[in-house]
Amino acid sequence: MDLSLTPEQEAFRALARDFLEREAVPHRMQWDHDESVDLAIVPKMAELGFFGLTIPEEYGGVGGDYVTYSLAMEELGRADSALRGIVSVSSGLVGKSILFHGTEEQKQEWLPQLATASKLGCFGLTEPDTGSDAGNLTSRATRDGDDWVLHGQKLFITNGTWADVALVFARTSPDGPRGVTAFLVPTDAPGFEAREIKGKLGLRGQATAELFLDGVRVPDSARLGEVGQGFKIAMGTLDKGRLAVASGCVGIVQGCLEAAVAYATERTQFGRPIASFQLVQDLIADISLDADAARLLVWRCADLVDRGEPYGVAASKAKLFASEAAVRAANNAIQVHGGAGYVDDYPVAKYLRDARVMTLYEGTSQIQKLLIGRAETGVNAFV
Ligand SMILES: Cc1cc2nc3c(=O)[nH]c(=O)nc-3n(C[C@H](O)[C@H](O)[C@H](O)COP(=O)(O)OP(=O)(O)OC[C@H]3O[C@@H](n4cnc5c(N)ncnc54)[C@H](O)[C@@H]3O)c2cc1C
Repeated sequence: MDLSLTPEQEAFRALARDFLEREAVPHRMQWDHDESVDLAIVPKMAELGFFGLTIPEEYGGVGGDYVTYSLAMEELGRADSALRGIVSVSSGLVGKSILFHGTEEQKQEWLPQLATASKLGCFGLTEPDTGSDAGNLTSRATRDGDDWVLHGQKLFITNGTWADVALVFARTSPDGPRGVTAFLVPTDAPGFEAREIKGKLGLRGQATAELFLDGVRVPDSARLGEVGQGFKIAMGTLDKGRLAVASGCVGIVQGCLEAAVAYATERTQFGRPIASFQLVQDLIADISLDADAARLLVWRCADLVDRGEPYGVAASKAKLFASEAAVRAANNAIQVHGGAGYVDDYPVAKYLRDARVMTLYEGTSQIQKLLIGRAETGVNAFV
């Protein structure tokens, strides 16, 4: 594995950093307080290529590699994780599912719109009674002539109230995970309702919603993949999603490092900068180590994807380590800031609130350990 970035990758990172420093960083606290990012930034992000990365050019994307995608997600995580989630759910979870499992018509219909963010997608897997145990979901789709009729409820769905299309996983037979099928549901379909969940600890700028499906009728052409293949599609897509979450976490750790160094070198106590105290350097060294270790796990995983090698376990390791590192780093960065770290004058409190969900969604830390443990031992601890 070559650890150096190509000039193109460096150039994209610099472009992304510059854009986000101008368009996101000055506004992120306001968006956090308003509990909504200003969606006017979405088309600007699309113009830069954030949504089209890894969607092939023939479908209106940029067709980039996954190392570049990871860099983009890192920069988004450093600037504002709320923005990172919009991209990685819409063009990542939804776009990749369509790219790898859609019919040619579905790809032609949706991918150019997702790649340019003229339409946004959401990924509807979790339900009130099934989170980690998603294979037991109970939303159902019933065949009716050429159509399917969907009933059920989804919980904690990122982009839920902003999305034009929802990728909904529903039960088509009682056959456990093998009885789940995926559907592309336009969110303006009669019987579809999204209700925003307010009062989140972090990611406040991002719309998280409950979805209600009450007799939503879609044609069979809205089915993504084969009947009964839905759970497999969801799990495969989440492997790549974990790479995006992990990359965003690297951005959080990097942001914490920069904030802690800046504060420690400016703030004086006992007549000298607090950076000169060994115990403060200890905190900063831990954040720096977390940044390097998390980034290397992320790049290793992105490199495996780019080379067409199996990457599922590497994605779990990157996601597990980077998400726990993001919480640790934000906590350490607050410690460096003292009381100033506890209020919103500095970015570190928001980093901690945003980081906290990263160990929960797209598979909790415990679920990542079970995946890694299964790969190491050959024993499935899920059942
Ligand atoms: C802000 C936010 C955004 C989200 N976005 C989306 C989205 O866009 N789409 C979507 O489908 N979902 C989304 N989710 C849902 C998220 O993926 C779930 O919350 C997550 O998978 C955990 O499920 P749960 O909350 O039901 O927790 P549970 O599964 O009930 O887990 C509770 C606890 O039990 C542990 N646990 C469960 N099973 C085991 C086991 N077998 N062994 C050991 N420990 C176990 C877990 O690790 C956890 O600690 C989002 C959640 C949040 C908070």
